[in-house]
Amino acid sequence: MFNQVAFIGLGLIGSSLARSLRANGLAKTIVASSRSERTIRTALEIGLIDEGFSDAADAVKNADLVVLAMPVCATQAVLESIKHNLKSTVIITDVGSTKGNVVAAAEAVFGTVPARFVPAHPIAGSEQSGVLAGKANLFDRHKVIITPLAHSDADAIAQVQQMWQAAGAEVLTMTVQRHDEVLAKTSHLPHLLAFSLVDTLARESQNLDIFRYAAGGFRDFTRIAGSDPTMWHDIFFANEHGIVAALDGFSEGVARLKAAIVAHDSDAVLGILTRAQVARHHFTHMLAGTAYSKTMNTKNLQFVVAAGGTLQGNLRVPGDKSISHRSIMLGSLAEGITEVTGFLEGEDALATLQAFRDMGVVIEGPKNGEVRIHGVGLQGLQAPPNALYVGNSGTSMRLLSGILSAQKFDTVMTGDASLSKRPMERIAKPLRSMGAVIQTTGEKGTPPISIKGNQLLKGITYAMPVASAQVKSGLLLAGLWAEGETVITEPAPTRDHSERMLRGFGYDVTTEGSTIRIRGGGKLTATNIDVPADISSAAFFMVGASIAPNADVILEHVGINPTRIGVINILRAMGGDLTLLNEREVGGEPVADIRVRSAKLKGIRIDEADVPLAIDEFPSLFIAAACAEGTTVLTGAEELRVKESDRIQVMADGLITLGIDAQPTPDGMIIQGGQIGSGKVISHGDHRIAMSFAIAALRASGTIEIEDCANVATSFPLFVELARGAGLKINVVEA
Ligand code: NAP
Repeated sequence: MFNQVAFIGLGLIGSSLARSLRANGLAKTIVASSRSERTIRTALEIGLIDEGFSDAADAVKNADLVVLAMPVCATQAVLESIKHNLKSTVIITDVGSTKGNVVAAAEAVFGTVPARFVPAHPIAGSEQSGVLAGKANLFDRHKVIITPLAHSDADAIAQVQQMWQAAGAEVLTMTVQRHDEVLAKTSHLPHLLAFSLVDTLARESQNLDIFRYAAGGFRDFTRIAGSDPTMWHDIFFANEHGIVAALDGFSEGVARLKAAIVAHDSDAVLGILTRAQVARHHFTHMLAGTAYSKTMNTKNLQFVVAAGGTLQGNLRVPGDKSISHRSIMLGSLAEGITEVTGFLEGEDALATLQAFRDMGVVIEGPKNGEVRIHGVGLQGLQAPPNALYVGNSGTSMRLLSGILSAQKFDTVMTGDASLSKRPMERIAKPLRSMGAVIQTTGEKGTPPISIKGNQLLKGITYAMPVASAQVKSGLLLAGLWAEGETVITEPAPTRDHSERMLRGFGYDVTTEGSTIRIRGGGKLTATNIDVPADISSAAFFMVGASIAPNADVILEHVGINPTRIGVINILRAMGGDLTLLNEREVGGEPVADIRVRSAKLKGIRIDEADVPLAIDEFPSLFIAAACAEGTTVLTGAEELRVKESDRIQVMADGLITLGIDAQPTPDGMIIQGGQIGSGKVISHGDHRIAMSFAIAALRASGTIEIEDCANVATSFPLFVELARGAGLKINVVEA
């Protein structure tokens, strides 16, 4: 790529880049200058350079690329000394940790920054220095920021970019000013604090004891104080402006924490620590744009499930997602402390949790599904520092729209690429008629949503044009602050988790037929919520225990909200042996332990009234039908075709592969019960399909292999462990 590359400075960074150029064969010859003869000798001895010079001006004479790899404050002097010896076509770049002063130095020397000068900064390194510290792979999978100027030469930019990419780095572009602002906060400030802390402690008379007993915290925090003083001296002066601003922000933060400790303000201290903890744990994922939980598993996981086995024992499946969301919302708005157990730590519910943290609510956890919310009352939310980001969660955005419309501050809500395509006018419109000032984006009324604070809401009477639990809930929540009564009528029944939980928090909500009423001006009182296990997740074990021989399981604490119990109705109609034990109410939600034993199932025509109540459970119900005697017919379920996959087609394909006579229809399926065989089925990344075919192995004649199962973790993280513990012969293979 280059005939000759000249390095000015062969320390950690310069020698690492030289090693990488060598390793990748990107330079015919590499030369360097150093003020130290020893450095040159060493570099020649280890074959890093072809020729060395003590004077930079001699090193650059024949170079196509000059890399400035010395401390940033030396830039002007170095450029001054080399400027008359440069080839006219030379590309100059640097590796300095600040950019403003490097550009200023180039301007001072050349009048204007040469077009083929491309400032760059690799975000990689260590506290070591010198030619022997370098490593060829130092930049592998690290970022390099280049800060070209408006008049920079495109070819020079491209060549510098390609050189770093060849070194394994990801190249990003920023303005000079932005670079210095960002790096002041993320790199320069932490180094300054580490140096300062060590120096402060070292001055104390008891310093020997302090260092002798220094625990891991001190060591971790101050590791970077071992970095090269000259380099950091230069950086602190070179980016004075950015560093002073970052230090001011930090000083305010420390002062806030100090004041809270002095005032014994436990909530404030806990608020700062919990917000910081979650940000620290998740910041890498936020950077990767994946909201608040682990990056979705994109590996191709395969389930391999041996035939036979049975299901036995007491099982608790993960918490219900809709209820997890609402527990955070109402717990935050209540007076007092709400303790939540069984919280589903999925990405969506975590987005809601983060939004309330951003609005000043102290929330401890989640840890093993336990969350402790320090409620702030209906008037206690505070303006978030930035736009609220709710990831992929439509529930968060629609429900929060109602809450935010009634606050004293303005807010903006954003979501990921997929949420940003979903319609938000269906909630914005009725909120506007309550007096909210709310703006969606574009013709289709999608996110981001901007909401103006300080509006007085009035109760409305609203007949919903489309049945939607999210819209209904958003309006009911806005109704908490509205003057008078909010009356909503639904065209068809939808999930009523919000109404039930509001009542659980002591708020009066009445439901008469399809009409729900709420009056503003009351208060929510904290309560404890044991989030019921999700009936959709429990369904796999209901079907599994029904079809397996000698099965007997108790599914603990399952939510049996009447709007969700279609799977129980249908299995019972097929002859399933399901008993509800210990029926009770938790936070307004009906809950039971469900005992399921083996049964001889028979085919039925599924009652269409049960279809909306079991819409997510049909993949597993199709397996039940395959094991039943006779024919099962499902109609009125066209919605199954637009779920995570076309569940009618994908399930029919899989069943046919396994030797079952399954006939897809536009709105359902006709299945003849028979013997499930063996084979390889494809889940198309649909978690419910994957789990359904896994359960099918309980009655298969041979092994079932299921492709594309990584997404199971999104709704049911411990499915494999739980199922295996109960007796399913399941293994996971990384394909
Ligand atoms: P280093 O290992 O200490 O090496 C510095 C090099 O600069 C030495 O070869 C030294 O050579 C030369 N040098 C020092 N003062 C000079 C002067 N006045 N004129 C000419 N050459 C001089 O430092 P490094 O870590 O490689 O840092 C080099 C650059 O990379 C700095 O601008 C730094 O901001 C940047 N950077 C460092 C890191 C990191 O983590 N270390 C990360 C990203 C960017 P002689 O003394 O032998 O002449």
